[in-house]
Amino acid sequence: MTVQGKVIAITGASSGIGEATARHLASLGAAVVLGARRTERLDRLVGEIEAAGGEAVATRVDVTDPDDLHSLVNLGVERFGRLDVLVGNAGISKISPVADLDVEGWSAMVDVNVKGVLHGIAAALPVFRRQGGGHLVTVVSTSGLKIVPTQAVYAGTKNAVRTLLEGLRQESTDGVLRTTSISPGYVRTEFVDNAVDDPAAREQAKRNMAELGIEPSAVARAIAFAIDQPEDVEIGDLTIRPTRQG
Ligand code: NDP
Repeated sequence: MTVQGKVIAITGASSGIGEATARHLASLGAAVVLGARRTERLDRLVGEIEAAGGEAVATRVDVTDPDDLHSLVNLGVERFGRLDVLVGNAGISKISPVADLDVEGWSAMVDVNVKGVLHGIAAALPVFRRQGGGHLVTVVSTSGLKIVPTQAVYAGTKNAVRTLLEGLRQESTDGVLRTTSISPGYVRTEFVDNAVDDPAAREQAKRNMAELGIEPSAVARAIAFAIDQPEDVEIGDLTIRPTRQG
């Protein structure tokens, strides 16, 4: 089975990379199971996918709540009979120098970016093991590959997930689980709007993003490529960045 016919859950599907991934995978014939907090946006997306002939369902998911991840996984299993892939995409960034001591922002990033992925693993792994197969895709970042000032904590959360997935991969060489870490560079989404508190710095960041950022559909295609491989082929790491990104 390639993308077509797979049941694929996506966290953070209400905007940006998650939304583009939902559209793309559905257009390739996957049944998509969408989670995020902004349910009105999810409902609209489900309507658009169905109108285009695809299959989609959605539920409210806050990835900081383990129960919500169980609900997402269960929704896929109940509606479509199984879950083949979980795309752990939900994420936030709070950009500031460590010396600013944004303790609240640090906690929020750890809760969403790290614990959110762990909650997804806790919900999906038993289902994958029961089925005898499954694929965990996480969206990390080039911020974890080239460490830059003001993004130390964000990069740390993304590299925690990268490390986690490699450990999980090594524990799962019985062929049941595939793991993939996707590292996007600058992607034109709402992400930067919420990342910077200072209004002037936010406008500057938005201008940079508009100039340099690539479309979220580029990341969606990379995720589809990883999912589309034969079951005995695992795409471990993929980096997708603007050609002009430093
Ligand atoms: P967006 O801000 O457009 O999307 C973020 C998504 O995460 C939204 O759907 C949001 O949904 C969801 N989300 C945030 N917090 C939670 C939560 N507590 N529970 C559930 N969902 C949550 O940005 P992107 O599409 O760019 O970001 C997607 C991923 O890509 C993130 O992990 C980010 O770190 C990563 N990334 C982005 C890059 C970029 O340049 N844009 C570069 C590298 C990585 P809602 O608010 O409705 O809950």
